[in-house]
Amino acid sequence: MNLKQFRKQFPNEGACRKYLEKVVWPHGRVCPHCGCLKSWSLSGTSAWPGLYECSGCKGQFTVTTKTPMHSTKLPLRTWLLAMYFLINSSKGVSSVFLAKWLGVTQKTAWKIGHGIRAMMAGHAVSLGLLDGIVELDEKYLGGKPRFQQGVKHARGKATKKACIHVAVSRKGPAQASMIPGDSYAVLAPYVKQVVAPDSWIMTDQLQPYVAIGKQFAGHERVHHGIKEFARGKVHVNTAESFNAILERAKQGVFHFVSHRHLPRYLSEVVFRWNNPDPVEKKRNGLSTIVMQAKPVLEQLGILLNQAVGTQLRRTIYGGVAIPQPLFGG
Ligand SMILES: [Zn+2]
Repeated sequence: MNLKQFRKQFPNEGACRKYLEKVVWPHGRVCPHCGCLKSWSLSGTSAWPGLYECSGCKGQFTVTTKTPMHSTKLPLRTWLLAMYFLINSSKGVSSVFLAKWLGVTQKTAWKIGHGIRAMMAGHAVSLGLLDGIVELDEKYLGGKPRFQQGVKHARGKATKKACIHVAVSRKGPAQASMIPGDSYAVLAPYVKQVVAPDSWIMTDQLQPYVAIGKQFAGHERVHHGIKEFARGKVHVNTAESFNAILERAKQGVFHFVSHRHLPRYLSEVVFRWNNPDPVEKKRNGLSTIVMQAKPVLEQLGILLNQAVGTQLRRTIYGGVAIPQPLFGG
């Protein structure tokens, strides 16, 4: 979908609102205040299209109530366009460019970007535990220290860089979070929170993993120290390709991101990784499977459905359940 097709699909606010209502409420309207399934649309001089009143709590709501889109007074079209740009870029978009493309101030673009990243985080939570063979790795992200003659700077964990934990299932999905270090006390509960206990985990030689591995169905370690990078199926190459994407995103877009905002940028990288589309390509008469990004409209649907779903999940009692965010996310 190109920009021209996007404009045709979403020509005005009404079209955007109808699209959002269809994606957010696929089985009919749900009151975001109390979870009630009965509501009516409001009419009259003080009402506007898309404003509903709940039959249960008598509260008023629209499709964006209790979502990141609600707090700004921006047109829905601006939000959808921003999502289009963020989803379409392979490395992310800085707020400076987003502002230019959307015709808003950088401050507003920054808010929009983080609103969308919050929705992406919601999608990561909805994935549940990773299972199968799961590769675990840590990555330290941060700027390079300034060059000083004769000074050898510390590397990796000896610096103030943020520790990012990466878990990638060989089945596809990944999770990444900023964690406060790589000690057993931090890693053990975190890994339990993202990886299913019946999984096989693959790690490097980091000491805490010895004890952590015993809590899973199996554990294999790669000995990077003796230049061992793979032993048959034992490797953490998938986690390392994820780390490479993270590194590129850091260099391209979020180079000066503070530790406070980093988790949201991680959600963006994770969302992109988790929404690929296997496409068959022919090269020299041989067909290979290449991972491409899912079509924009499909990703938009996934993003919105889960996003709003994070605040608006129907429970078996008809109430609203708000899932807890993952550790550090
Ligand atoms: Zn209600």
